[in-house]
Amino acid sequence: MSGRIPDPLRAGLASGWKVFDGSRQVQDLDWKADVVIVGSGAGGGIAAEVLSGAGLDVLIVEEGGLYSSADFRLNEAKAYSELYQESASRQTADKGVSILQGRTVGGGTTVNWTSAFRTPPDTLRWWQESYGLATLTPEAMRPWFEKAEQRLGIAPWQGMPNPNNLVLERGCQALGLRHARISRNVRGCWNLGYCGMGCPTNAKQSMLVTSIPAALERGARLLTRVRVERLQGDQAGKRIISLRGSLLAADGLTPSGRKLTVRAGHVVLAAGAIGSPAVMLRSDLPDSADLTGKRTFLHPVAMSAALMPERIEPYNGAPQTVYSDHFMHTQSLDGPLGFKLEVPPIHPLLAGVTFPGFGSAQAELLGRLPHLHASLALLRDGFHPDSQGGEVGLRGDGSPLLDYPLNDVVWDGVRRGWLAMAELQFAAGAERVLPLHTSAEPASSWRQARAMIESLPLQPLMAKLVSAHVMGGMAMGDDPTRGVVDEWGRHWMWRNLTVVDGSVFPTSVGANPQLSIYAFAWRAATALRIRLAAG
Ligand SMILES: Cc1cc2nc3c(=O)[nH]c(=O)nc-3n(C[C@H](O)[C@H](O)[C@H](O)COP(=O)(O)OP(=O)(O)OC[C@H]3O[C@@H](n4cnc5c(N)ncnc54)[C@H](O)[C@@H]3O)c2cc1C
Repeated sequence: MSGRIPDPLRAGLASGWKVFDGSRQVQDLDWKADVVIVGSGAGGGIAAEVLSGAGLDVLIVEEGGLYSSADFRLNEAKAYSELYQESASRQTADKGVSILQGRTVGGGTTVNWTSAFRTPPDTLRWWQESYGLATLTPEAMRPWFEKAEQRLGIAPWQGMPNPNNLVLERGCQALGLRHARISRNVRGCWNLGYCGMGCPTNAKQSMLVTSIPAALERGARLLTRVRVERLQGDQAGKRIISLRGSLLAADGLTPSGRKLTVRAGHVVLAAGAIGSPAVMLRSDLPDSADLTGKRTFLHPVAMSAALMPERIEPYNGAPQTVYSDHFMHTQSLDGPLGFKLEVPPIHPLLAGVTFPGFGSAQAELLGRLPHLHASLALLRDGFHPDSQGGEVGLRGDGSPLLDYPLNDVVWDGVRRGWLAMAELQFAAGAERVLPLHTSAEPASSWRQARAMIESLPLQPLMAKLVSAHVMGGMAMGDDPTRGVVDEWGRHWMWRNLTVVDGSVFPTSVGANPQLSIYAFAWRAATALRIRLAAG
């Protein structure tokens, strides 16, 4: 199939784009650039397009490899190992939350599920009031959301939701809960349902097929399979003078022994909300208030599976096209954690490691995959006083590890999420409902499910929690005691360093974050472009 679909990346490479594979270099690299961008995901891609558009000499350094539509074969095993951090097995320190993050050109945008929401106005208001980010009003942010929406084809999904998503819609209708359709960043979507394995038709308007090619077309350089290890600051503690990285071997993981040095006028950090703080921690570059890596948020996700009488084929069709914010608004913003309800796709490999049970019981459940539905409750963390998120630290080998303690506030949200989802699933006609918890048994009525959920012990590893939204750790604040960067992503201490990825958010976003990252990155990169032009 892919052979007949034009692959813009392969065409660009053939036309002479300056793309270099770190694993193929036979000597150390010592390069210069006006701007070096670390990471090519949501923030890095947008920054590359904006800055290369100003005629600057831009170098993008990406740890992952370059894979494009011709490589994407709807194959889970291949996709997770090639395109995800730690082969999609990244976990928090106590293994309580499994974390999905991209590790390839395009970062998370290459593998994400295309749901697009603007930053909720109440989140922006909270940032204004609690972090002094007075200019971040919904009105001031609107042009940046609009730019990103236009550039990336973000629009309400006009197609029919797949039967998996219709379960949530039906449940909401039956219980009278507010719900709506989700906007997506696609153009000409084939409705395949395998977005998480990379889009084989280039319909998903990820950084891989939009901003990165635009930057390369304008002469930017892309260096793949190179892990940025550290930045070196000057004696005065004001400017970054160089960047050091390790070129990786052909496996894309182990260092080849060759090194990268870059001297650039400006450094843009966009390695994601675990990767960017990790670069700073490895560099031993302080911020004024020792906030780097702290208050890292996950939107911890609780899930509930349901067996439906009808065949719903949860692996087919656009993922996440229906949502409900009903439970976002039943409590105050800083009260018990609110949650957003959505419907993930279910594919066999990820279901096998996420769904509880062993042996024949799990085999029986997975054997009914075409009838399986799953809902997710995405918890809004970072607002409640006891929701302080996690902290990025370093393992002995320098690789990052997120410690995210699961406390009572999170567990309370998890339990409420399971209850809400079970009730909705039965209201939509589910035969059996199973919260993703090792002690849970399939319940055949709402009453039975409620009693079981209320008695489930809440502990890491028993409850299966996941996250695909890592945010915070190098947050914006109006002064160096309240944030690592200012509202333009500019580091308060290291003035030729700008952060443009999900790490700049002071709390979780409270909605799937890609559009927030695009908009904030566009705004920050535009301000940087103006500053650099002014000298
Ligand atoms: C499976 C999945 C589904 C998702 N679905 C949605 C969705 O539907 N809607 C939504 O809004 N969001 C979704 N997300 C989340 C969204 O994609 C991310 O929030 C977003 O991509 C994060 O952008 P970022 O710029 O912070 O980092 P990323 O996009 O993660 O990019 C960071 C890049 O930096 C690279 N990097 C890291 N460390 C280094 C280093 N030391 N040196 C060099 N390079 C480095 C990484 O390899 C990566 O490519 C999903 C994510 C996943 C994984």
